[in-house]
Amino acid sequence: QSFEELGLPKPINDGLLAMNFKKPSKIQERALPLMLSNPPRNMIAQSQSGTGKTAAFVLTVLSRIDLSKSRQPQALILAPSRELARQIQMVVQTIGQFCENLVVEAAIPGSIGRDTGVQGSVVVGTPGTVIDLVRRRALNVSGLKVLVIDEADNMLDQQGLGEQCVRVKALLPKDIQILLFSATFPERVMAYAERYAPNANQMKL
Ligand code: AMP
Repeated sequence: QSFEELGLPKPINDGLLAMNFKKPSKIQERALPLMLSNPPRNMIAQSQSGTGKTAAFVLTVLSRIDLSKSRQPQALILAPSRELARQIQMVVQTIGQFCENLVVEAAIPGSIGRDTGVQGSVVVGTPGTVIDLVRRRALNVSGLKVLVIDEADNMLDQQGLGEQCVRVKALLPKDIQILLFSATFPERVMAYAERYAPNANQMKL
């Protein structure tokens, strides 16, 4: 299968070409059609790191956002550490380099100016900072269409982080598409995941 067959918008295909991604990896080939379907469905995807899972959710996020509303947050990606959030931000920027008006902003400790607030159409952050920004009305979540949680095993199971993820979700639009990605889903985490992302498609590689 090729990326063209997935029907991705042209600027995204150009980004993939520039990165020299010639064809989808297995997780991308199997998960993307499910994640891009309409109406959107939640997804719980298990795949080892190194299999292309970051690009899988980044492609979904980029396909779902309306670039004419570049200053309205439309996708939120959560990660357990600021380093990982920064790495994901880079991947969104690189694959999205030909998406005109794309603004990708990190919502991690110290990244957001006190007065400006979050301006990006894609926001990549850590849960504590995201909660703080929403409380201070520095992040408008009303237009969010997709929520991604990377390293969902850590995020949903770890003390503190798990509660923060639940609190973030409670702040978001009820019909948001939720995508959970992780290298592992031990039984207990899978129970949390199924509650967090109801009626999700599930995929295990
Ligand atoms: P990840 O599983 O997200 O850690 O990605 C592993 C590596 O695979 C990264 O260096 C990506 O740049 C690369 N990668 C992801 N998707 C593809 C693809 N379709 N073709 C070639 N390389 C890819």
